[in-house]
Amino acid sequence: MKAAIYDGPRTVTVKDVPDARIEHPCDILVRITTTNICGSDLHMYEGRSSFETGRTLGHENLGQVVEVGPAVSKIAVDDMPFNIACGFCKQCERGLTSYCLTMQPKPAMAGAAYGFAGMGPYQGGQAELLRVPYGDFNALRLGEDAAERQLDYVMLADIFPTGYHATEMANVKPGDQTLVYGAGPVGLMAAYSAMIRGAGRVWVADHRRDRLQVAEDLGAIAINTAEQDVAEVVKDATSGRSADNGCECVGYQAHDPQGQEDASLTLNGLIEAVRFCGDIGVVGVFLPEDPGGGDAQGELEARGKVPIDFGMMWFKGQRMGTGQAPVKRYNRALRDLIAAGRAEPSFVVSHELGLDQAPEAYEHFDARDEGWIKVALHPDGDG
Ligand code: NAD
Ligand code: ZN
Repeated sequence: MKAAIYDGPRTVTVKDVPDARIEHPCDILVRITTTNICGSDLHMYEGRSSFETGRTLGHENLGQVVEVGPAVSKIAVDDMPFNIACGFCKQCERGLTSYCLTMQPKPAMAGAAYGFAGMGPYQGGQAELLRVPYGDFNALRLGEDAAERQLDYVMLADIFPTGYHATEMANVKPGDQTLVYGAGPVGLMAAYSAMIRGAGRVWVADHRRDRLQVAEDLGAIAINTAEQDVAEVVKDATSGRSADNGCECVGYQAHDPQGQEDASLTLNGLIEAVRFCGDIGVVGVFLPEDPGGGDAQGELEARGKVPIDFGMMWFKGQRMGTGQAPVKRYNRALRDLIAAGRAEPSFVVSHELGLDQAPEAYEHFDARDEGWIKVALHPDGDG
């Protein structure tokens, strides 16, 4: 089968690799029809993670079940959450499927995902076929309109639930005034989710005009960090009281509008612009080690250490939630919103391409070229 392989920093190659196959009685085998490139893939693509060369990328996958293991009793068209979970460990029982203990091979670690640094040996779905462990648990059955609405449903694999998780950790309630850092696909999904939860006002801060335009089209207030001071805008609009809550949707490669990286920028921005006792949800990725961090930022950052204004955060009594999103906690409900026509997360998709075009798709998306907001790859076609 064809697969998009990580061949070292900024090199993705589409190659023939052995077909994915059933390896365990609970596995299912899925023929992938849509698979997205995620901002998380870019950390790996840039060599800023522990991701090994030769592995297949891709954790936002949708496709058709073509084979099931003997212990599976399953379905037709599925969307897989990017977490791989067993459903029966201590973490899964608590709904923390993104920190599953069974699927992560290292005892001191938790959590597993398709084609992801540090999250087990599983191959990604930017390929023609994908092995899905514990298929009954990990695959989400979709409605009859799944084939026509793939671009909506594929967002259930990661970014729609992840954006929603940011708003859950930030405790966004009806009427709230919510600040989102990052107008990438995840930030846009957090803004969208805040609106679904009834936020009264949503700001989205970024320095990319094309992305801010999408946020405005959604009904959010754009803050262009190249021209405006985020805390000032938010405080001016709230009689100095600040936002009720905030979502971090950027991660450790946060940078200023000129491109200078500083992993503390967005966290400190939120600590400043969120009110006393407000909640902050951090879904932007921060890692315990960053091989490129020494050059890009400093020795501290290379070891995953981020100097933040903890004194101010403590003084303000803020709470911060962090981590990989437990996609399964939300994807069934969000699927039903899509099926009911109440949510159309496909609005983030800017490009649909064939799997063969993965190398150029990575290049453009990584460069954040104008208009390249979210890429969906179709291994079964040419875009
Ligand atoms: P992306 O790289 O496309 O978007 C990030 C956006 O942040 C860009 O538009 C960029 O211009 C903006 N940005 C950079 N520095 C900024 C700053 N200082 N202030 C404001 N905006 C800034 O990525 P994405 O796909 O939207 O993902 C965003 C983050 O979420 C990534 O770190 C990704 O790895 C992470 N993520 C986490 C989970 C999870 O489960 N926690 C899931 C998916 C993605
Ligand atoms: Zn993702």
